Amino acid sequence: MKKVRVRFAPSPTGGLHIGGVRTALYNYLFAKKNKGDFVLRIEDTDQNRYVEGAEQYIMDCLNWCGISPDEGPGLEGDCGPYRQSERKNLYKKYAEELVKKGYAYYAFDTPGEIEDLREKLKAEGENNLQYGYHVRDVMRNSLTLPPEETEALLKINFPHVVRIKIEPNEFIAFNDLIRGNIQMETNSLDDKVLLKADGMPTYHLAVVVDDYLMNITHVFRGEEWMSSAPVHILLWKYLGWEGSMPKWAHLPLILKPDGNGKLSKRDGERLGFPVFALEWKDPKTGDLLKGFKEYGFLPKAFINMLSLLGWNDGTEKEMFTMDELIEKFSIERVHSSGAKFNFEKAKWFNHEWIKRANASSLMPIVKQLFLEKGIEIQDETKFHSIVELIKDRCTLLPDFWEQGHFFFVSPHEIDISAIVPKWNNYKNLFFIELIRTYQLTEIWNEKEIENAFKEIAAVNQLKPGELMLPLRIMLVGGKYGPGVFDIAAVLGKAETIKRIEYGLSLLSEKQVN
Ligand code: GLU
Repeated sequence: MKKVRVRFAPSPTGGLHIGGVRTALYNYLFAKKNKGDFVLRIEDTDQNRYVEGAEQYIMDCLNWCGISPDEGPGLEGDCGPYRQSERKNLYKKYAEELVKKGYAYYAFDTPGEIEDLREKLKAEGENNLQYGYHVRDVMRNSLTLPPEETEALLKINFPHVVRIKIEPNEFIAFNDLIRGNIQMETNSLDDKVLLKADGMPTYHLAVVVDDYLMNITHVFRGEEWMSSAPVHILLWKYLGWEGSMPKWAHLPLILKPDGNGKLSKRDGERLGFPVFALEWKDPKTGDLLKGFKEYGFLPKAFINMLSLLGWNDGTEKEMFTMDELIEKFSIERVHSSGAKFNFEKAKWFNHEWIKRANASSLMPIVKQLFLEKGIEIQDETKFHSIVELIKDRCTLLPDFWEQGHFFFVSPHEIDISAIVPKWNNYKNLFFIELIRTYQLTEIWNEKEIENAFKEIAAVNQLKPGELMLPLRIMLVGGKYGPGVFDIAAVLGKAETIKRIEYGLSLLSEKQVN
């Protein structure tokens, strides 16, 4: 059996949309499941659409997601170069071979002549304005010109393209691993340009030649390429490579959360969520779009969420590690209809993965977050306990700061108004006694702190429940955070006492007023 080889073949035209990342992911999972190779090929034949930095960005995205290619630009591999622009000289001979075999032809029409053709067709009420079987006989190409004239034009290098010659009234049938048997009629196809006037191949020629030369066994790509499949299949056939043709699968679209249609960059801006894995800065407009990473997603949560946008393993299971995905993935289980993107669900995955992560693995990333806020972590053990205490409350990574900053900086504001209505002298005396007891406490841990608290409450016939909220607000500033005695234990004796004293001073000011 042939070794499985799949490719992810993006064009470096801008930020990589999550639809593209999912295409890469499914290719990667399939390759790894079948002990095959995952190839990255940069399809940069359209120089007008080339965007500086996009290729590096694609690589960075794949690496962040943990789906790095086995072969690709800058990586080892037997099938390089992996940038189509660097393979430019390779394609011409195949285009010429197709002309020789009668499956393609040289077309010398100028852009003006093609425009005139369109105008003429329009005036005649013709719907099909494309350059194809119904008009090629009246255009300036090697099918209509005498051979000597074609020769002469080629000799002086008269600007020309090579077009595929598609015969009408044929059916092209192929098996799509997701959609089953597909049949398409050639009448709707135009004679696509294969080789451009500048000698660059178009996508159609390059994709087929490269998939062949790179021994690609399976092509999994977005649904938007479905309509090009017949042209590609014809090329495989015309080039005499039918026996090596890869198996096809066209992946469903990722749809907008509201309504139908493909999820776009604009939907993200409109509804306030990312559509790129990583932050993308458009070099032309300077626009900066945050990615899932910058929103505070863990790569494993992002990948888990993405894997289920169009696939499931046949059970209700939702949480998958990369290894489980590799084991369970099958292309036949990919759905044929589009999958609606749901940002709330994406956040749910992140929350679940943060909860499941052990504190040590989260520490480097959370430490960095704190550093960005001006807090340099000195005490690793203490920080570990903090991360452990608050991680269940964090949905996105910046929540670690929201949930944990008060361990390092006294709360700027204390929500005293939440205590005042139920405050009284008994409670005041309770806290004064609590301070005194805590000052004498030698073993400062959560159990001792809690026991002392409850004992004093009992002696004073006060309900601990009514005293815990004031304590929390004094320590944290508001009504949030993990267990209040856990917080006191981590804060330490001196800091806990200091914050209670400060809280009491604010309360007494309120009472004087
Ligand atoms: N270069 C195409 C893209 O930008 C790849 C299509 C394919 O995979 O055949 O998506």
